[in-house]
Amino acid sequence: MKIAVLKETRPGETRVAATPETVKKYLGLGASVSVQTGAGEAARFSDADYADAGAKICPSAADAVQEADIILKVQAPSSEEMRVFARGVKLIGILSAYNAPDTVPAYARMGVDAMAMDFMPRITRAQSMDVLSSQSNLAGYKAVIDAAAYYGRALPMMMTAAGTIAAAKVFVMGAGVAGLQAIATARRLGAVVSATDVRFAAKEQVNSLGATFVTVDEEAMKEAETEGGYAKEMSDDFKKRQAEFVAGHIAKQDIVITTALIPGRPAPRLVDADMVRSMKAGSVMVDLAVEAGGNVELARLGEAIETNGVTILGFANVPGRLAADASSLYARNIYNFIAAFTDKESGNFFADPEDDIIKGVSLTRDGKVVHAAFEPEEA
Ligand code: NAD
Repeated sequence: MKIAVLKETRPGETRVAATPETVKKYLGLGASVSVQTGAGEAARFSDADYADAGAKICPSAADAVQEADIILKVQAPSSEEMRVFARGVKLIGILSAYNAPDTVPAYARMGVDAMAMDFMPRITRAQSMDVLSSQSNLAGYKAVIDAAAYYGRALPMMMTAAGTIAAAKVFVMGAGVAGLQAIATARRLGAVVSATDVRFAAKEQVNSLGATFVTVDEEAMKEAETEGGYAKEMSDDFKKRQAEFVAGHIAKQDIVITTALIPGRPAPRLVDADMVRSMKAGSVMVDLAVEAGGNVELARLGEAIETNGVTILGFANVPGRLAADASSLYARNIYNFIAAFTDKESGNFFADPEDDIIKGVSLTRDGKVVHAAFEPEEA
């Protein structure tokens, strides 16, 4: 089995899909690994680190993918990058296919077996392969650190000889993986934290972290979770009442962190311009859903803006702002996936099409689109 690790080409992508640690592990599986020169540079892994781990360093992507069985990426490759991919190769990455549905038939046309790590089913067996969790967890942490950096005050209550500083009030909207980590981080920094979500299960998790759960309608929340554990889109009535409730709560907050996502749909709009205007000057908002359309009306992708004294952070690729840790966890997620489907005797990767994990992540196979969400409609 030959594995190729490519340097990311998207502007601002700092992560890498394999680390020297996982290169060693692949060799332990009997694989060989080629790494494009500079692939780990932005995450502080040098070519020498990869070479020491046993990888072959290649001067270009075209060299790295020569005779590769599997290509590892963080982001989906551009059509330019795909020119050097051979038919039959397996591509593993965070392919964001809902945001770019045209890429799926393109993989099929090129004979690339595309496996989307971001489609990993949320089942116990796949927990160690769950890239959305590993990356969201870091994003939730970094959102609080970013907010604290822009907030012109301290987060914890401080009693000093010169007087007392009140603790900051932090409100987290969406208490999934990122939101729960944001709550835990804000609590560690001494803030007074409240949170909301539409899923009923989130209430207990929020409370267990020492934050207050706030909601407009607990009964409606009992219907809001899919079998896969994700949120459904809520009714217009719920959204209206949620907005009224949120407006009152937000006006009292110092920092608001929004993380709400609905798979395959634009992010729900939770904070409008009036709500932002209701906040005190010096407050900070972080929209972690900005790449999915944004929870905050005024947030701008990739920008930190200020309006009426309120800072709104819409940084792109927040996990990539912690490139070394994000890469380490992502690389381990991929290794765990590959190792689970590698035959220990032959050392070959076999993606059993009947396996629930393979069914979940496979977009294309043998030149055909195989994922139900992207299958062409019958003529
Ligand atoms: P996500 O990133 O899809 O969404 C973030 C959060 O936003 C979710 O909690 C969602 O309920 C919430 N949300 C959506 N619409 C909202 C709205 N209008 N208002 C407020 N909040 C809203 O979610 P996620 O972080 O990937 O987690 C989803 C669930 O999956 C969680 O229950 C998590 O614990 C679970 N999970 C399970 C596994 C596993 O079993 N292997 C792994 C990871 C996550």
